Amino acid sequence: MSDLLDFTFAQARTKLAAKDFSAVELTRAYLDAIEAARPLNAYVLETPEIALARAAESDARIATGEAGALEGLPLGVKDLFCTEGVRTTACSRILGDFTPPYESFVTQKMRDAGAVMLGKLNNDEFAMGSSNETSAFGAPVNPWRRSGSDAPLVAGGSSGGSSAAVAARIALGATATDTGGSIRQPAAFTGTVGIKPTYGRCSRWGIVAFASSLDQAGPIARDVRDAAILLGAMAGHDPRDSTSADREVPDFEAAVGRSVKGLRIGLPKEYRVDGMPAEIEALWEQGAAWLRAAGAEVVEVSLQHTKYALPAYYIVAPAEASSNLARYDGVRYGARVPGRDITEMYENTRAAGFGPEVRRRIMIGSYVLSAGYYDAYYVRAQKVRTLIKRDFETVFAGGVDAILTPATPSAAFGVGEMANASPVEMYLNDVFTVTVNMAGLPGVAVPAGKSADGLPLALQLIGRPFDEETLFSTAAVIEDAAGGGFTPERWW
Ligand code: GLN
Repeated sequence: MSDLLDFTFAQARTKLAAKDFSAVELTRAYLDAIEAARPLNAYVLETPEIALARAAESDARIATGEAGALEGLPLGVKDLFCTEGVRTTACSRILGDFTPPYESFVTQKMRDAGAVMLGKLNNDEFAMGSSNETSAFGAPVNPWRRSGSDAPLVAGGSSGGSSAAVAARIALGATATDTGGSIRQPAAFTGTVGIKPTYGRCSRWGIVAFASSLDQAGPIARDVRDAAILLGAMAGHDPRDSTSADREVPDFEAAVGRSVKGLRIGLPKEYRVDGMPAEIEALWEQGAAWLRAAGAEVVEVSLQHTKYALPAYYIVAPAEASSNLARYDGVRYGARVPGRDITEMYENTRAAGFGPEVRRRIMIGSYVLSAGYYDAYYVRAQKVRTLIKRDFETVFAGGVDAILTPATPSAAFGVGEMANASPVEMYLNDVFTVTVNMAGLPGVAVPAGKSADGLPLALQLIGRPFDEETLFSTAAVIEDAAGGGFTPERWW
């Protein structure tokens, strides 16, 4: 039975169509694997009844030749996506047992395409973090371990439940969200593929908001082809999100395997950051060499304002978060802690409901938006954001088709290792990813090699707005050249 877990979705799709096995059989294999993998803490809610009911519906549609694009795909859903009739918490105590009466646009689309929901996946509280350790449910554990060690490692954040589940083969694919790196960094830490599409490609409707001008949904998948299939089913215009783009969703899967001959790939010199480990530098050079060998032209480019991206992000994101999180007041959603009057009720609820990282962000956000500091911090950060965006525009206008960078400054670190350091250490994880959110561009993380102690390492490709196709083609070349080996050994 367990060999059912070995198939990618593209492979399983063919076998489901040929009736080699049923969607119910595939789903059962995943449900058994989920039970066996509980020590990983990837799921915060398992929904086996829903899964089996939807799988049976899939089998019925396959039998009548009405299979959708994700028919029978056993899917994990980040707990940031509202799911109709199924508890949604954003992994925060403040949402309590909140059970939405509606489904997010993205998960509804996946459901309509035939996906089978296995359950809700762990994430950092309100998606704030880089290790998933801020979750009210505790951190998920990375299925990877350093060679010769059984120290638990983080699965990255904030979509650490999604990355752990896909890497451990307890979900065939997963939804995730990325505000500053939360799809790409967890994918990088687990040897999976994660793409943050262009801002506007996926509707944010029904996704718990963190920083609305930066948040985007995307998939974490086992390989590039599966990521392309999943994104195709998640994307699309939605009039309920005014920033959702009204444009055609291309056939992303068709881009996988397309030649990269003649493409110009930029290597931004500013990403050669101080103290970059030699193995990350070597991985980056290797990636460039593979693309050159596949016929691409690799050129050095400059993204001058890169060093201001992280500080500007940590003004813009908390500012928007402090505003978005004002709605959690104990009146409309989830948990309530009573007080003598309404003000005390708000205060008690928010004090008990939000964890320390979320409180830090609300305080920073409120500070930078306050009357005396708005121009000095918030307005200035927005100006920096424009400059960062312009850097990319200049590079793309100069004929560059995609930009290659490392995805993260290191391999996965140990549980507790960074969380006990300063918050700024943790924020540095996103040094290569936040620029992409600030500029609204698409970015993909693809496994490309291993660290000295046997952990997966990834490269990032950044594309022109709405040109995810070039990212899929280029990432597939890197995936092929890297030659696989990104399935962790089972120890749980
Ligand atoms: N690690 C970043 C943060 O904490 C990004 C998180 C995300 O992309 N959701 O804000």
